[in-house]
Amino acid sequence: MIREDDTLDPLLAMLERFVKERLIPNEHRVADEDAIPPDIIMEMRGLGLFGLSTPVEYGGIGLNMSQEVQVAFVLGQTSPAFRSLIGTNNGIGSQGIILDGTEEQKSKYLPRLASGEIVGAFALTEPNAGSDASSLRTTARRDGDVYVLNGTKRFITNAPEAGLFTVMARTNPDEKGAGGISAFLVEAGTPGLHIGPADRKMGQKGTHTADVLFEDCRVPATQLLGGVEGQGFKTAMKVLDRGRLHIAAVCVGVSERLIRESLRYAMEREQFGKPIAEFQLIQAMLADSRMEAYAARCMVLDAALRRDQGQNISTEASCCKLFASEMVGRVADRAVQIFGGAGYIADYGIERFYRDVRLFRLYEGTSQIQQLVIARNMMREAS
Ligand SMILES: Cc1cc2nc3c(=O)[nH]c(=O)nc-3n(C[C@H](O)[C@H](O)[C@H](O)COP(=O)(O)OP(=O)(O)OC[C@H]3O[C@@H](n4cnc5c(N)ncnc54)[C@H](O)[C@@H]3O)c2cc1C
Repeated sequence: MIREDDTLDPLLAMLERFVKERLIPNEHRVADEDAIPPDIIMEMRGLGLFGLSTPVEYGGIGLNMSQEVQVAFVLGQTSPAFRSLIGTNNGIGSQGIILDGTEEQKSKYLPRLASGEIVGAFALTEPNAGSDASSLRTTARRDGDVYVLNGTKRFITNAPEAGLFTVMARTNPDEKGAGGISAFLVEAGTPGLHIGPADRKMGQKGTHTADVLFEDCRVPATQLLGGVEGQGFKTAMKVLDRGRLHIAAVCVGVSERLIRESLRYAMEREQFGKPIAEFQLIQAMLADSRMEAYAARCMVLDAALRRDQGQNISTEASCCKLFASEMVGRVADRAVQIFGGAGYIADYGIERFYRDVRLFRLYEGTSQIQQLVIARNMMREAS
């Protein structure tokens, strides 16, 4: 594992250069074409970005959480679509295997996910099971050496590109809650697995979500994650704890980019004979954004360190996701305000970020669900 700063620092410096020289100049193109150019995807593969958190023995870079969030701070400095492309392989699309997979499942899939040869997707949400994910209805019925999957998954990130899906399905129809749910590794191309048309989204153009449908999809029993039934929901929640911290770190990165752009614009743009940055009402917006981004950065680093020390960070991860995703929404709103009319015009790119960051308050648990997790944990600790 990379532990020393003298190993992480060159990685961060290289990423900062890549973001500045390759990703930021392509932001408009990705938004206009709703696709990440293939040459950039290949460069991202070459840099090892698909395997940041995958253990070294399975072909990844093996970052711990403290290191991963620092990488996310850097990747957050550009359009979230770039981060989203590698996000599932580093997070929800691989962590289930890393945390709970059998040795055979790890060696079969992790090297291919880490190299970016295949894209991973995580299929939990359904048309009637969003925040209440444990009420999911997709079924997996055992039939000899296979499980037969039936159901529909909704809004699945990277589904159109994915080569492997971690799918949560109910193996025990008598158990209506979380205990009846198991996780399966389903390869793209398995007969009975269909991908719907890509959803038309508010933002984050260049990254795609779609429905994933299972119609008598026969999956070998060896694809049951960890080889144990009834553990799928627990696995999903562990994966999301980690994912929430990563998302919070991305929010910090985006807010820092927006603050930099806002400051630069405020110091250049003149009204009433002086730069608008001289006006205290503009200064208040800049200062509030800086303060909030700094608070979020500290929270994320603290929670990541606690996780690396082996602590249960369910509460802290939700605190980080809740605060950072709401914070970046306020920062993006102030950025539009500081840019004035230009903030509303596509050429300046600020309105694009304003739309892009809205998603952070919704997926991997809405803000309301983070509040519920925090409060429930507080009550559990108190009793
Ligand atoms: C672009 C995008 C990508 C996504 N990627 C994935 C993915 O890769 N994999 C995946 O499985 N899912 C994915 N999702 C789904 C996402 O996680 C869900 O949309 C999210 O969890 C909310 O579920 P829902 O949309 O059904 O909203 P609902 O659960 O219907 O919630 C609607 C509103 O009610 C509130 N609410 C619900 N329950 C409560 C409660 N108990 N108390 C108070 N308020 C409540 C919510 O906070 C929200 O404001 C993605 C979604 C989007 C939009």
